[in-house]
Amino acid sequence: MNVILLGPPGAGKGTQARKIVDEFDFDYISTGDMLRKEVESASRLGKIAKSYMNKGDLVPDSHIVEMIVDNLGELNARNLIDGFPRNISQAEALNEKLTENQQKIAVVLHMNVDDEELINRLSTRAVCISCQAPYKLKSPDEILNINCNNSPNKDCIIKVRDDDNPKSVARRITVYKNETFPVVKYYKDLNVNLVDIDARGTEDEIFQEISKFIVV
Ligand code: ADP
Repeated sequence: MNVILLGPPGAGKGTQARKIVDEFDFDYISTGDMLRKEVESASRLGKIAKSYMNKGDLVPDSHIVEMIVDNLGELNARNLIDGFPRNISQAEALNEKLTENQQKIAVVLHMNVDDEELINRLSTRAVCISCQAPYKLKSPDEILNINCNNSPNKDCIIKVRDDDNPKSVARRITVYKNETFPVVKYYKDLNVNLVDIDARGTEDEIFQEISKFIVV
């Protein structure tokens, strides 16, 4: 069963993903997290990806397809996919692979939030670099006093993501509108089960809504 989380940066995909995984037992596949690990380890892919990510641009498809689609065959039956596909050609590559594996997309959860709220959320966000749990900051100095409650790694560091600066945030929102949003129509045209989720409420309210569409 493949569930896809689609939505602009700051929509809360990662937050909801954690809740879905806890409640419904999925394998969580986040291309953003995978790429950040590559950057951390300064791998060949990480070195290439870093400049694209910091600017808020998409990492070129060839690298992403190599990282994700080529590994899909080995994945278990219950996948929660976050951050992919991010453009039509990635959606086509995913479709091809799923057809080859005789798998389907059970549901695409399309999370909607207005730009003002996205910018507000991302400008006050820090994350645990170990488990990616998000924290809301009252001021940037606050980071020094936060401990991550979720991470098993006690020495983990909480920081503002390199791409959560105003310029990259603006670019990520534009890239979402131009490249990722057309994927919604692509799936609707293919009659894939796509549901619009109003992602402005509390984490629990949104999770309640999302849970209705995850068939166990
Ligand atoms: P967000 O949704 O908050 O922008 P992610 O963690 O999903 O954050 O992604 C961070 C960055 O990683 C993106 O801005 C982009 O540079 C890169 N990235 C993630 N997934 C993909 C993808 N499927 N294709 C290309 N680049 C990607």
